[in-house]
Amino acid sequence: MGHLTKSHTILIARTGQEPITLCLRPLPILIGAAIAFGIPLTWAGITVASIFQNNQQLTRRNQELSETATEVLSEINQLDAEIKTLKRRAGVSEDPSPEGDPEALNPSQTTLPQGGLPNTVPPETLLSLAKQRGNQLTDQLQQEVSPALEDTLAAEAHRKAAFPDGIPLQTDFRVSSEFGVRSNPFGRRNYEMHNGIDFVAPYGTPIHATADGTVTRSQNTGGFGKHVIIDHGYNYETLYAHMSELKVTEGQTIRRGDIVGLLGNTGRSSGPHLHYEVHRGQKPLNPRRYLKELSKMEQTSSAAED
Ligand SMILES: [Zn+2]
Repeated sequence: MGHLTKSHTILIARTGQEPITLCLRPLPILIGAAIAFGIPLTWAGITVASIFQNNQQLTRRNQELSETATEVLSEINQLDAEIKTLKRRAGVSEDPSPEGDPEALNPSQTTLPQGGLPNTVPPETLLSLAKQRGNQLTDQLQQEVSPALEDTLAAEAHRKAAFPDGIPLQTDFRVSSEFGVRSNPFGRRNYEMHNGIDFVAPYGTPIHATADGTVTRSQNTGGFGKHVIIDHGYNYETLYAHMSELKVTEGQTIRRGDIVGLLGNTGRSSGPHLHYEVHRGQKPLNPRRYLKELSKMEQTSSAAED
């Protein structure tokens, strides 16, 4: 290091002229050179490194965006499928051809392969695709599916209200005779078809309609005595027989639970009871199928007796 700190004198001789004397100190020169060239070089190095890093970050960010866009698009595709199901259920027909510029990118015709789109599709395209698709689905939901579904649900609710459901008595009772072939309680023939269920309860117990409908018969005739028939629509009818008193008139609109009459012993009856029938398409059905509550109550009461 010693020679670096010493100063060196360089003598440049020129013909016919004074010689030039240069006095050099190597260390300050080296430091100067290091400062003059080193800093820019280091700076350039840092800049290049940071550009490279930024580039890597951008690529990563781009990849993340692409992945997000792909996820959004496949979620939208799932939504689309669900909306199609809803539309089918609501009775909305599929549009044969979407309107608009045929040259334009049509999101509804874009199907995503399993595992997403290839990475070559720029995320901006994917995102704008997702946005278009999202808007389309929102329109479909608001303008077609929702109103149609509301209609369908209203019709379903109406049908449900018209569906004979539950027990026509709201007090304690017992079932004395089931639907089906039974031995004849009046003894003329050995067996007969019993088209309903018999409920035994105290004379005068209120009898309730098991679904919404219109009273098509309220009269005292034949073997049924004082009886009521309600038409519930959708081919369903119910019949309540042997009543002591009729509480409705023909043509009257009925809600489920309304009192149609009082339990009695009129017509071909061997004691106070309600004979209850459920018909579909004019054919008697086993009312047990419409008395889920009855099985529940019987299970509870038999459990209580144990
Ligand atoms: Zn009966």
